[in-house]
Amino acid sequence: MQIPFLSFNSQNALIRDQVLEAMQGVFDSKWYILGDYVKQFEREYAIFNDTASCIGVANGLDALQISLKVLGIGEGDEVIVPSNTYIATWLAVSYVGATLVPVEPNIATYNIDPAKIEAAITSRTKAIIPVHLYGQACEMDAIMAISKKHNLYVVEDNAQAQGALYNGRKTGSFGHANGTSFYPGKNLGALGDAGAITTNDEEISKKITSFRNYGSHKKYYNEVKGVNSRLDELQAAILSVKLPYLLEWTEQRKNLADHYNRCLADVHQLNTPVLTNGATHVYHIYMVRTTKRDELQQFLQRKGIGTVIHYPVPPHLQEAYKYLGYKKGDFPIAEDIANTCLSLPLWPGMTKEEVETVCSSIEEFFHD
Ligand SMILES: *Cc1c(COP(=O)(O)O)cnc(C)c1O
Repeated sequence: MQIPFLSFNSQNALIRDQVLEAMQGVFDSKWYILGDYVKQFEREYAIFNDTASCIGVANGLDALQISLKVLGIGEGDEVIVPSNTYIATWLAVSYVGATLVPVEPNIATYNIDPAKIEAAITSRTKAIIPVHLYGQACEMDAIMAISKKHNLYVVEDNAQAQGALYNGRKTGSFGHANGTSFYPGKNLGALGDAGAITTNDEEISKKITSFRNYGSHKKYYNEVKGVNSRLDELQAAILSVKLPYLLEWTEQRKNLADHYNRCLADVHQLNTPVLTNGATHVYHIYMVRTTKRDELQQFLQRKGIGTVIHYPVPPHLQEAYKYLGYKKGDFPIAEDIANTCLSLPLWPGMTKEEVETVCSSIEEFFHD
């Protein structure tokens, strides 16, 4: 039996007719940029995310970058980021010219450790970017309390956690402006690049709406030096078809993760996901850790089971950030995660039998 890391088969079969109809609708509308489909999806996603507004943009990286830019963050400002994240979080800070200040995660949850944030704050600190990594909500009450105390902006990176909750509140609704991504493999995925910013602040929302469209509210009148980062009508129409399924798909992800947890409970050589109090996890990624990671991955590969490493190199050790002068050992928790993490197959439509097949192969590996 072949078990891929990710499969769109089941999702796509379910929505095929609706998606094709929506695409035809855009074609026939003869209005392809910033029209009714984008407006409608923005309304729907704002409701889903419990925020006053949602502004569609071209991708998740732009969502973060534009958020920072519109909050006035730039050269000379420090931004606190997790040492354990996808590189996009760091790139957004670099692109606005601000200084990265990495903070280590909690080794149990893999999310930024609020207890370590205050030590990283200086008079230049302007913002914190909590990343709800792999789909688990960060400890937002503690993070928001720190931001209030030190007068800092919070920009949530919600690319992996659409629909996750912290103390009953949606991720992407805590910060001043929050980015998310609809990259095809994300929990809510478009059929190409897409992203959005969510915010409860009307002023910030207006600025973002202008900034993503050349810094203009009225065509050919430019208030600021904006960018072209618009959500396509076509992607918006597709996302409107998929959004109503997101809760059901998230339930499936949670059930599959629970099944993994049960099946792997006796494999003591493996760390399975740990939830922090008050947080939910939407399992964008079901990640386990073992010191025998590379051998396990190869073993599963030989059995036809696909896995992925999220992520093999932490941002501070990437070639792209060599100029910052970090070396091995500077962020040991992030490095430990990078050396031991393995993401197992999980997608809406995956069966419990497939989970069991993966788990028995893992057991076999550790018993040999
Ligand atoms: C996917 C992702 C992004 C970037 O999204 P894109 O749409 O690919 O630009 C940012 N942060 C995290 C944590 C992500 O997983």
